[in-house]
Amino acid sequence: MAPFSPGVRSFFHVFRSRPKAELHLHLEGAIAPATLVRLARRFREPIFPDLASVRARQRVGDFRDFLAFYRDVCRCLKTPADYAAVARDLVRRLSRENIAYAEVYVSPAVIERIGLDWAGVRSALEQVFRRFENGSGRRVVVLLDSARQWGPDAAHRVLDLHEASPWPRVGGFGLGGDESSVPAREFRQVFDRVRRLSLAPLIHAGEWAGAESVAAALEELKPVRIAHGFRAAEDPSVVTRLARLQTPLDLCPTSNVATRALPPGERHPVLELLRAGVRVSLSTDDPGLFRSTLRAEFLELARLGATRRELEAVLSNGFAFGLRPVRRRVPARRPRGISGPPPRR
Ligand SMILES: [Zn+2]
Repeated sequence: MAPFSPGVRSFFHVFRSRPKAELHLHLEGAIAPATLVRLARRFREPIFPDLASVRARQRVGDFRDFLAFYRDVCRCLKTPADYAAVARDLVRRLSRENIAYAEVYVSPAVIERIGLDWAGVRSALEQVFRRFENGSGRRVVVLLDSARQWGPDAAHRVLDLHEASPWPRVGGFGLGGDESSVPAREFRQVFDRVRRLSLAPLIHAGEWAGAESVAAALEELKPVRIAHGFRAAEDPSVVTRLARLQTPLDLCPTSNVATRALPPGERHPVLELLRAGVRVSLSTDDPGLFRSTLRAEFLELARLGATRRELEAVLSNGFAFGLRPVRRRVPARRPRGISGPPPRR
């Protein structure tokens, strides 16, 4: 803390007690290592027999490595109760860090591939989230998600499930997975349908592919926010476009370092993007897998040179760019000029 200015130090002094928001979290990625080992040990040859085996997998070599790690985590989830255990890990962490508002990607496509019934998992998750909220003003919004490499049909299947039995907790639909696998334009009809269903369209881009992937997402799919998007910084014209459209980026510096989406030793461009007028908020992405905290994300921003004022702005952005309003003192304002459905009240 010593190298920081008194203003930045006082920001972190009260950081824990202040209500915060996180807009980019994946349910399975929130699993605590101890839960992962407990669930894995039920099998004859556990993928994660002990905490050391989890730690070894946390040292990700590249994106394929990370996807394989994520897939192995999902392979340990066999019942709706297992999903509830992961959700409890998630909300425990939210409580610990005083995160009052969270948007969490839940993937019916993964759940069905595991062989589980979506309705059963959904109701197990709902119970955990409801208990967490319990009149406290805290809120969890679910973002349905499909993997880009599984193509538009898998995404439509997710929307079919939602349309057949809408879950009121769902606020948006996002596309994750391997962004270099299927071009954004192939999902145009999916995103049109997302809007018709009054869901906010979101997409992961500019993580494992460069600025051109962010540009394609903006052009073809007009998302209300982009998950990651930090590689937009590779092309000044894309940065200018993000700033002009005011499309927020849900940035996760720790994740980008851990997965090596940001090459080792390179400076994360979060502060440069912020100073170029791009709207950014900070999240942990997969806090269970990367052992990250929201405080660590903000500390990284401070280490890069952010002032107290910039840290405060990014903290407020978490609430301002959320899909649903939450009771709090920081004014909740929607960014101007973004496309997609109006916020639901
Ligand atoms: Zn993500």
